[in-house]
Amino acid sequence: METSSAEIWVYNCRALEVTEDEIPSATVDTTRAIAMNKRTFLRFSAAVTASPVIGPLLAWASKDKLKNWAGNLEYSADRLYSANSLEQVRSYVKKENKLKVLGTRHCFNNIADSTDNFLSLKTMDEVVALSPETRTVTVDAGMTYGQLCPLLHSKGYALHNLASLPHISIAGAISTATHGSGEKNGNLATAVSALEIVTAAGEVVKLSRQRDGEVFRGVVVGLGALGVITKVTLDIQPTFLMRQYVYENMPLAEMKDHFDAIQCL
Ligand SMILES: Cc1cc2nc3c(=O)[nH]c(=O)nc-3n(C[C@H](O)[C@H](O)[C@H](O)COP(=O)(O)OP(=O)(O)OC[C@H]3O[C@@H](n4cnc5c(N)ncnc54)[C@H](O)[C@@H]3O)c2cc1C
Repeated sequence: METSSAEIWVYNCRALEVTEDEIPSATVDTTRAIAMNKRTFLRFSAAVTASPVIGPLLAWASKDKLKNWAGNLEYSADRLYSANSLEQVRSYVKKENKLKVLGTRHCFNNIADSTDNFLSLKTMDEVVALSPETRTVTVDAGMTYGQLCPLLHSKGYALHNLASLPHISIAGAISTATHGSGEKNGNLATAVSALEIVTAAGEVVKLSRQRDGEVFRGVVVGLGALGVITKVTLDIQPTFLMRQYVYENMPLAEMKDHFDAIQCL
């Protein structure tokens, strides 16, 4: 193959240290959208962080409608509640007839939308348990990969694969089968080995890959329709280094002829 290649070594977790401000502007439509998105994001974060308990209407006191992260999708409801514990999630779910959980609002489409109520678990973002014996980590559902991976790395562990962004919530990512790179790497949902979910009746259901087979597999990528995920257990592995190959000026024909070889690297 007559191509030059440049090798770039990166730590698995280093890529996740990018902040929201460092996302290239090409990822959103316009400068205005970015500005609005940042204002919206900050207000969202502040409102959620400031909320001590669920119950009172969160101060989404904004002239702008609540939007997704990119700012190109307007949500239908503006009632946004924040839960800080499992018990708060349960009591809110029992109280409200209809709601949708909002993660970090990165979905491109309207599956996270609700015409009634939103529930945010943003402040539920702790590591609950790290088990070297079972090679798993259990986290609160509001945690993001950007929060989790540096912690894992400091303990000598990593996840098998990651998406392009650090600041998406783990529950939101697995619910939509968010994928990373490499056709031989499973999407992010394949790392899930157990879940804690609050059902519409307010019951707490615990499911595991080992115990619940097909039912479990059907629930992990639930698109937010099956209940409120409150805890996620993920498989982990020893931390590793990654090498990125960049093929410059590769003719399309070369790429076609060697596609499998390129992909499997
Ligand atoms: C710039 C950008 C880059 C992206 N890169 C990739 C990529 O590399 N690979 C890829 O596959 N996708 C990618 N995506 C898509 C993104 O990973 C998904 O949209 C993912 O769902 C975002 O997670 P979130 O926390 O923002 O979820 P949200 O958008 O807030 O919600 C998504 C769904 O998850 C549900 N949900 C969230 N939290 C919970 C919970 N606790 N319990 C139950 N349901 C819940 C919601 O109800 C909703 O149905 C990208 C998106 C953007 C904007």
